[in-house]
Amino acid sequence: MNIIFLGAPGSGKGTVSQIAAREYNLQILSTGEILKNMAHENHPLGLRARDEYWGKGFLVPDEIMLPLLEEEISKTIYQKGLILDGFPRTIPQAEKLEEIIKIDPVINLLCSEELITKRILARMQCKKCNKPYGLNPRPPENRICRCGGEIYQRVDDTEETIKRRLNEYENKTLPLIKFYKERIITVDQDEKTTPESCFDDVKKALDSYLS
Ligand code: AMP
Repeated sequence: MNIIFLGAPGSGKGTVSQIAAREYNLQILSTGEILKNMAHENHPLGLRARDEYWGKGFLVPDEIMLPLLEEEISKTIYQKGLILDGFPRTIPQAEKLEEIIKIDPVINLLCSEELITKRILARMQCKKCNKPYGLNPRPPENRICRCGGEIYQRVDDTEETIKRRLNEYENKTLPLIKFYKERIITVDQDEKTTPESCFDDVKKALDSYLS
């Protein structure tokens, strides 16, 4: 099974993907993580992508993303089935993906703009094990994860970039809902939604879609 998690920034794609990957024994392919790792390793393309695009809240252009995805997805770890977190984000990316693998289904995580902004400003992550923190669960005061890793805030999670990222989402990613119309499962969230309750809704929707 190959699943896509669609949704605005802060809608929970990364967090819910981690739970779903464990539950369904799937491998996560997160293009955001790949880009961040490339910048961390001082890869020239990774540094350019951060300084010109994602660090400022813009999508990284398809000319960079398409070859990156093609190379990554060819790895054997994805053969048992995968969850795409953060790809595709544009129509050309979705079209490319259709040529490479069979995608079914596409989970669309819905969230109000107000909640998205609140979540993004609160969200943090462990450098070592990638455990997500935010409104729920909150990070410990000493900012040290249970695994001993340091908990940090993303450089692109600022008030200044949120508007730009939401704008990019509306203009370039939202058309994907129509692109995948028969394969879309929508899961709605509100203030009370936790990662676990969101995954429960995803699981219910997935089970009835697949049956
Ligand atoms: P994420 O961790 O998924 O929020 O991704 C962080 C940032 O990386 C995004 O805000 C984009 O700027 C960039 N990015 C990740 N995936 C893609 C993609 N498929 N297409 C374009 N830019 C991407």
